[in-house]
Amino acid sequence: MASLEPRPFRRTGRPEPQYPILKNMHSGPKQPHAGKAGELALGEVALLKQIRARAAQLSRGTAHGGLRLGIGDDCALLRLGAGEVLAMTTDLSISGRHFRLDWQTPESIGHRTLARGLSDLAAMGARPVAAFLSLGLPKELVQNAKGREPWPSKKNWFDRFFNGFFALANAFQTPLAGGDLAESPMAVADVVLVGAVRRGKALLRSGARPGDLLYVTGTLGGAAAGLARLAELAGGDRKGRSGPPRIPAKLQSLLAPLLSPQPRIAQGLWLAQRGLASAAIDLSDGLSTDLAHLCAESAVAAEVDAAALPVHPGATLEQALHGGEDYELLFTSSPEARVPRRIAGVAVTRIGRVVRRRKDRPQVALVAAQGRQPLARHGWEHFS
Ligand SMILES: [Mg+2]
Repeated sequence: MASLEPRPFRRTGRPEPQYPILKNMHSGPKQPHAGKAGELALGEVALLKQIRARAAQLSRGTAHGGLRLGIGDDCALLRLGAGEVLAMTTDLSISGRHFRLDWQTPESIGHRTLARGLSDLAAMGARPVAAFLSLGLPKELVQNAKGREPWPSKKNWFDRFFNGFFALANAFQTPLAGGDLAESPMAVADVVLVGAVRRGKALLRSGARPGDLLYVTGTLGGAAAGLARLAELAGGDRKGRSGPPRIPAKLQSLLAPLLSPQPRIAQGLWLAQRGLASAAIDLSDGLSTDLAHLCAESAVAAEVDAAALPVHPGATLEQALHGGEDYELLFTSSPEARVPRRIAGVAVTRIGRVVRRRKDRPQVALVAAQGRQPLARHGWEHFS
């Protein structure tokens, strides 16, 4: 993940043009471009300049305690508060796996790229300090509709991706402090989030104990329900139009959890500061899968009450149990803890309990009127 210094082109041996290199947000060594010499480099410099300007604007507009030096040098410099430790996470988003260029708008893909990382910070009770973003993009995504000039156009994919990314970064006061950019046959976005958490206060997956109660923020299944609806819209009669389908106004709220999930940073911080959660995880792969992760790390089992689940309006129980990408927090608290019904404006629902692990019982069980059944992991799993 180390930054790569620009090097002379391999094939021609010509040195790279001496543009003001935006270190800590630059491409690595690259193959010579098939077109005019330097074309790619010029486009890239323009792109990087634009990102740097936008990142600087964001840094000026918000109170970023932690960022001392952002894009422009070899490394970013970040400062932590006294008694804080770093919380770091990386999330890879790949076209066709985590997003679809023909289904989702560039704004939504930019938003979700950052939201995934922020949600991991939320799950640890960390505050965001800075984000780093590496993008690999096919050339056509950085060109405008008219042709070859890569910049500027309000219409190109690249610009719109950053509209979504920076809108969320702004809302959560997370400056973009560096990254990397390369031409790629497939769109790939890798985000690294740096956060800070008070020493000894981080919310871990491993702290749940038998007797603890199980809670979630917000509602479940919204992203899966939205995805099913979006698939219908994308597969319907498009009258020859390509690109993401237009979302009718009446479907905006149904699709919001999918297209612009809100990371629960404030709720994670609230829980960490008060020491109210014994364990926590964010729901990225689906309740059945993420709860199993939490149980495994805590060496406990859990029971979920089907009737208690806050199923998103328009979603099914199945989607609430197994649909991923809700980015809500799942946490456990001791039965003595006073967990409020809302934290920082978001509903909190008790959905079950932590129990002792037994060989003859499933690790996660669903308790419904018909009785108790094992809740198998049907969430998102790679390489499965
Ligand atoms: Mg996570």
